[in-house]
Amino acid sequence: TWGSMRQELIASVGRNNFANWIEPLELDALEDGVATFRVTSPFVGDWVSRNYGDAILNVINKSGRPAERLVFEVGPRREPAAAAASAHGAPANGVSANGTPAEVTPSHGPAGARASSDRAAPAVLRGEADDLPGPDLDDRFTFDSFVVGKPNELAHAAARRVAEGGDVTFNPLFLYGGVGLGKTHLMHAIAWELRRRQPDLRVVYLSAEQFMYRFIQALRERQMIDFKQLFRSVDVLMVDDVQFIAGKDSTQEEFFHTFNALVDQRSQIILSADRAPGEIEKMESRIVSRMQSGLVVDLHPTTYELRLGILQQKAERFRPQFRDIRLADGVLEFLAHRITSNVRVLEGALMRLFAMGSLVGREVTIDMTQECLVDILRQSDRKTTIDEIQRKVCDHYNIRISDLVGPKRTRIFARPRQIAMYLCKQMTQRSLPEIGRKFGGRDHTTILHGVKKIEELRGKDSQIAEDLEMLRRALEA
Ligand code: ADP
Ligand code: MG
Repeated sequence: TWGSMRQELIASVGRNNFANWIEPLELDALEDGVATFRVTSPFVGDWVSRNYGDAILNVINKSGRPAERLVFEVGPRREPAAAAASAHGAPANGVSANGTPAEVTPSHGPAGARASSDRAAPAVLRGEADDLPGPDLDDRFTFDSFVVGKPNELAHAAARRVAEGGDVTFNPLFLYGGVGLGKTHLMHAIAWELRRRQPDLRVVYLSAEQFMYRFIQALRERQMIDFKQLFRSVDVLMVDDVQFIAGKDSTQEEFFHTFNALVDQRSQIILSADRAPGEIEKMESRIVSRMQSGLVVDLHPTTYELRLGILQQKAERFRPQFRDIRLADGVLEFLAHRITSNVRVLEGALMRLFAMGSLVGREVTIDMTQECLVDILRQSDRKTTIDEIQRKVCDHYNIRISDLVGPKRTRIFARPRQIAMYLCKQMTQRSLPEIGRKFGGRDHTTILHGVKKIEELRGKDSQIAEDLEMLRRALEA
């Protein structure tokens, strides 16, 4: 099934590429050597085909269902259940009439961005990795690449401190926070930094799931002594996503003993979870209190400033992969404003945007951004309305709504009007004609002209840039 093929693809293309490109694909049909996928835009199909076409064909063929060609059809997503059903080779039904087929043959172009490894083995950082294979640390997850802002400054400071090694003050260090806020990134950063400072230190990083898996395997293969010895001989143990072992009694039991043994010998323990220790249901209370006995810090949801900082940094880092790409002024701000869910989504969006930019070969505008990311933006839509924007702009420039939307062309009305148009385009999902109607029935080309004008001015005129920034804040509050 596509489900199991997807598992294999994670291994061959890496976790991040998988999440950005393969995960959103839906297999519609697999017949006569043709695998038909559903994608959200022609560009996505093209990109997937260029970069992962061979990998996809490989896993399909390995599953015993011959396929020679991949076809990407553009259309809306359907319910997962329906997609799974048709993935067994049933003809593609429910295909929307306006879905334009974008057919692409794979095997051209290089194999895309670097695929990060995602093996199910814990990472050991040491001169020679003896009894544990690895390493499985992402080399992009360092302190250098971690952008610090208000929401994460405490967690970052604690991580830094622990990464200095030396005295074990915060034990365990417990990091928690919502998905995609940087817990794993910080843990890897600690591991890299410890390795840099103390190459001989025995540092083990693994997910709670891997811990459980290895525990069960040790039980089955009667290697519990080895297992215990292994985990109790480390200097630093990092277990990511510990909420996973909630409700898994024997794993918890073993975890508890490992934990105690390590604390007794003053080895550092670093844990992460998606919530505070006390809020993890079905976690034994003795484990909870152990987890609370060190330093517990949380990563807060991101702010606009942090998101923008992260985007700017990521854009710089993507650049070598995507030379010649140009983003119009305001594109990053647009993303930071509109994608508020989590950093992983933000990053995926930026990646996709760069990919599109490199395919189209011209400057990426906000318009193109909206089109390319329509599915992501829809999910994290903010509810700023045109009325609200108009009101705030009028307040700011001290003019009346009737003048803002009225016909007067003098600069004192025209400029705020264009600024309001620009903000409507940036901050709402409304189309140009819709915006036009709210501006006294203006034509969509007039709105577009206004948007373009401000896009141009914001790079040159610092007063306008400042006004925009203030208005945006006021609207976001
Ligand atoms: P979590 O483990 O909390 O779910 P991750 O650590 O996997 O989240 O982060 C998700 C993605 O977002 C990663 O690619 C990570 O590099 C990135 N990320 C999160 N926070 C930051 C930050 N403050 N600076 C830079 N990148 C970040
Ligand atoms: Mg994580």
